[in-house]
Amino acid sequence: MTKRGTRKDARSAQAFQEAKQLIPGGVNSPVRAFKSVGLTPLFIEKAVGSKVYDIDGNEFIDYVGSWGPLIVGHSHPEIIEQLKETAELGTSFGAPTELETEMARLVIDRVPSIEMVRMVNSGTEATMSALRLARGYTKRSKIVKFEGCYHGHADSLLIKAGSGVATLGLPDSPGVPEGVAANTITVPYNDLESIGLAFERFGEEIAAVIVEPVAGNMGVVPPQPGFLQGLRDLTSRYGSLLIFDEVMTGFRVGLHSAQGLYGITPDLTCLGKIIGGGLPVGAYGGKREIMEMIAPSGPIYQAGTLSGNPLAMAAGYTTLRLLGMPGVYEELERKSARLQEGFEANARELGVASTINRVGSMICPFFTDQRVVNYDTAKTADLQRFNRYFAAMLDAGVSVAPSQFEGMFVSTAHTDEDIESTIDAHHQALKQL
Ligand code: PMP
Repeated sequence: MTKRGTRKDARSAQAFQEAKQLIPGGVNSPVRAFKSVGLTPLFIEKAVGSKVYDIDGNEFIDYVGSWGPLIVGHSHPEIIEQLKETAELGTSFGAPTELETEMARLVIDRVPSIEMVRMVNSGTEATMSALRLARGYTKRSKIVKFEGCYHGHADSLLIKAGSGVATLGLPDSPGVPEGVAANTITVPYNDLESIGLAFERFGEEIAAVIVEPVAGNMGVVPPQPGFLQGLRDLTSRYGSLLIFDEVMTGFRVGLHSAQGLYGITPDLTCLGKIIGGGLPVGAYGGKREIMEMIAPSGPIYQAGTLSGNPLAMAAGYTTLRLLGMPGVYEELERKSARLQEGFEANARELGVASTINRVGSMICPFFTDQRVVNYDTAKTADLQRFNRYFAAMLDAGVSVAPSQFEGMFVSTAHTDEDIESTIDAHHQALKQL
């Protein structure tokens, strides 16, 4: 591991300068640029297990995990082996393969509400397609989303969004037509009263409510008891669809995803990240009657040149198989709980205002003493403090997401020693605040 204070970044800085000439902001996805924390992004050379290595030769214990997909760690030997074997047979056919059916079966077996599933190439595509399906099925136009939830960058979802748009302070992106924005109603997360009012006013026009069942794009914000059930009741009463965006929580918070954990059955579910095992994948699925509306069985169009790509299916299938081994989620829970406990003890000892939210292996230490239950309370966090903490963690050899509005992801590759080193790093970082 990098010794504290010895982190080098000259090569990354040089690479970033070059990239900025050719790629907007030097990156292919905004938060990677470390803009809000004012540092040079790490240019990665390789990653194995729980560690990433940058081109300056620094080693970090990694809690970004490619922003969630790598729940079994980087370069898992079984995934790499499957990818090699699969690639030998060809990388894309634009024709069906048996592997896609096997993958569909596994997803359907594991995710309670999914009776049929369609593979796409990203989480954005999954949510965008699920919304089109919901609108086509209900013949209604409006959708409801929650402030601080992020569902990818489709026009109608870039309204009061979380993740990078929250980090960069661009919650209502230019380029989204007013007519599109007018069909998106936003209400605070965990607030059944507000959404109740929205339904009283617009209920007959609402095609769907889309929600992260555990919000992971404004830090980590668990659903309050009764919140998800309240959404289920409300949408059922008005004939609207309930869409769980489980792109982040799918197979992250449990083998049966958040809907299994909380016992709520949505009409449609969006998946991504983990089901691609580190390759580009998304999926959406749900009730047979609704899914049969998609072309070619029905009239609602959605397609993809690379959808169901064999390499992505191989990596995803292998990941899901590994997650099905006994004790995997118990281990993740144990290590994640230890991390939380260590962070809480550090904050107490050093008198740092801190609220740590966690669901399974999704954890977020907020620099606030308030309870964080929605976007407004997430924003009470001291962002300057977060930035200093982030830099200190990097210097201590730990890579976390460069934003207070993103969580940490624990993987099965993190060892007890990694967890203890991370707690030590956190202690050092808090001392320097
Ligand atoms: N939904 C959620 C809940 C997400 O966390 C993300 C990505 N962080 C997306 C959708 C979009 O996925 P992608 O970046 O693969 O388009």
